[in-house]
Amino acid sequence: MHPRDWIEVRPQGVWCKAGDFYIDPMQPVERAVVTHGHADHARPLRRRSRGRGAAAGLGETVEIGDVRVSLYPAGHILGSAQARLEYAGSSIVFSGDYKRRPDPICVPFEPVPCDVFVTEATFALPVFRHPPLEDEIAKLLASLMQFPERCHLVGVYALGKCQRMICALRAAGCTETIYLHGAMVRLCKLYKSFGIALGPLELVTPENANALAGRIVLCPPSALQDRSSRKLPSVVMAAASGWMRIRARAKQKGVELPLVVSDHANWDQLTQTMVDVSAPEVWVTHGRDDALVYYAQQHGFKAQALHLLGYEDDSE
Ligand SMILES: [Zn+2]
Ligand SMILES: [Zn+2]
Repeated sequence: MHPRDWIEVRPQGVWCKAGDFYIDPMQPVERAVVTHGHADHARPLRRRSRGRGAAAGLGETVEIGDVRVSLYPAGHILGSAQARLEYAGSSIVFSGDYKRRPDPICVPFEPVPCDVFVTEATFALPVFRHPPLEDEIAKLLASLMQFPERCHLVGVYALGKCQRMICALRAAGCTETIYLHGAMVRLCKLYKSFGIALGPLELVTPENANALAGRIVLCPPSALQDRSSRKLPSVVMAAASGWMRIRARAKQKGVELPLVVSDHANWDQLTQTMVDVSAPEVWVTHGRDDALVYYAQQHGFKAQALHLLGYEDDSE
């Protein structure tokens, strides 16, 4: 039976009729398979639902009703997975968010054969070509050398991007203490508990803030303009995001040092992934879906946009 007969888009999100559960629902529901911990994919379960969350490992298969659900690596952030659903002789893969660049923190994305491949399209325009991470890290370190009297405040998404930036800075030879906004501390601890070495980290406090000249401070993008940031000495405002490719966007956010660092597939990787997975049919969840659907159709795939609302592309 074709997945279109047992997968349905509902206001709450994508619903698997055959097993009565949602995949990355956009609203609280009773039962869901969640690909990763970003807020736009992992809504809390509805309060009256009795079940608690259960974590399944990569390579594991669980049965939900008559549906076999298996998880494969997505290479997006720590613990991110693709979910392959198999029912009545056909299969569909929900890739969640993914990237193809090597990342020492997560298991690389694995193309999984299926009848329908469901993909994101956050950066699905040819203009989005993410440069090597090392180049962007070098830019940040060069700016620190050039302006040792200025604090470098870098906006990074707290889950995933923050820890990836820290690891990349360490790999580039930065051994100094990196300072963290309060929102990051717990998640960094979590990464450390999974054996990911992040080196010396410290919380920014009102007491130490004015002594952070020449230091790197990481904060959520939303905190770049915070009152607390004004205590930092002569701030260079930076941000690490795939969106920094768009100059106007950086300018509008007051970002002086844009760093193009993304945990999503860029245009080349999205199109290459379609070829690698080579499912005859592609469904596109969120982002620049029209561009990717058009590309897919031009290249012999059956393709459609699911027009899912509620996934944010800013969680990047
Ligand atoms: Zn994500
Ligand atoms: Zn997403």
